[in-house]
Amino acid sequence: MSEAKLIDGKAFAADLRGRVAEEVAAYTEARGGEAPGLAVVLVGEDPASQVYVRNKGRQTVECGMKSFEHKLPVETGEAELLALVDKLNKDPAVNGILVQLPLPDQIDADKVIAAIDPAKDVDGFHVVNAGRLAAGLDGMVPCTPLGCLMLIKDALGEDLAGKRALVLGRSNIVGKPMAALLLRESCTVTIAHSRTRDLPGECRRADILVAAVGRPKMVGGDWIKPGATVIDVGINRIEPEEPGGKAKLVGDVDFEAAKAVAGAITPVPGGVGPMTIAVLLRNTLVAAHRQAGMAPPAI
Ligand code: NDP
Repeated sequence: MSEAKLIDGKAFAADLRGRVAEEVAAYTEARGGEAPGLAVVLVGEDPASQVYVRNKGRQTVECGMKSFEHKLPVETGEAELLALVDKLNKDPAVNGILVQLPLPDQIDADKVIAAIDPAKDVDGFHVVNAGRLAAGLDGMVPCTPLGCLMLIKDALGEDLAGKRALVLGRSNIVGKPMAALLLRESCTVTIAHSRTRDLPGECRRADILVAAVGRPKMVGGDWIKPGATVIDVGINRIEPEEPGGKAKLVGDVDFEAAKAVAGAITPVPGGVGPMTIAVLLRNTLVAAHRQAGMAPPAI
C-alpha cells in the first residue's frame, strides 16, 4: 500500500487567511471603512501565551482587521478582568473577544468565559455556543475542531455522510465540539477517552480518526484502519536527550508508523496547529457580519 497523503495545514491555513482578507476588504467597504475588530486579553506573562497573542495580533492586522491587545499584570483580580470583558462587550468596534487561557489561579476562567457576549465569543467556549453547536444551530464554533473539519473535507471531499469517525479525547475545547461537528456532517461518531475499553480496536474501525489526548505518539500504526484519514491535534513537547539539544514537538499519533497505513494524515507541526488562528480570524469575520445584520460569507 502506498504512503499516506500529507495534509498540509500550513498551506491550507495560509489560503484560508487569504480568503478571510478578501472578505474583510469587502466587509470594510460595505461598512463605510469600519473593519472588523478582534480584542485579545492576556493576563500575566506565560511565555507560550505571549507567543500566541503576538501571532494572533500580527495575523489579525495582516488580514485587514483591527487588533486590540489588552495585557494585564499577573496579579489582576477577577473583578477587574470581568470589568474589562464588560467594556469590550459594549464596544461596537470590537466584534470578537478572546481571553487567552490559562488564567492565573485567582481568576475563575469559567466565570470569565460566561461573561463574554456569546455573539463576540470567537473561541466558541461559552455554554450558549456549546449548546447551539450541540443543538445544530448557528453559533460560534471552537477554532481547533472547526479547522480539523476543514482539513478532513479537504482530504475527503464535502460529503462525509455515513463515515465512521472516532474522536479520541472529550475536552470541551477539542473532543466534544469535534464530535458534534462530525455528527452534523452525518458521520457515525464514537467518542473515546481514558475509560474506553479496547481503544486500539475502537480506533481501527474509524474511517476518520481525530486524536486529541495530549499523549506523545500514543496512537500506533496498528491502531489505524488502512486508508483512514488521521487528524493529529496533539502538541507534545519532548525535551532533548542531550544537554544543549533542541526540544521537539510530536503529536498524539506515531506519525512514521501511521503514515504507512493511513490514506491521509496531518503532520505535527504543520498540520492542525496553524489552522487555529486562521479559523479565529474567520470566526471574527463571521461574528462581525452577524452583528451588522449581514449574511456571513461561506468560508
Ligand atoms: P485535555 O487534557 O483537556 O483532554 C484530553 C482528553 O484525552 C481527555 O478527554 C482524556 O480522557 C483523554 N485521555 C487522556 N489520556 C488518555 C488515555 N491514556 N487513553 C484515552 N484517552 C485519554 O486536552 P485538550 O483536548 O485540551 O488537548 C489535547 C491535545 O491537543 C493536547 O496535546 C493539546 O496541546 C492539543 N491542542 C492543540 C491545539 C492546536 O493545535 N491549536 C489546540 C488545543 C489543544 P478523560 O476525559 O477520560 O480524562
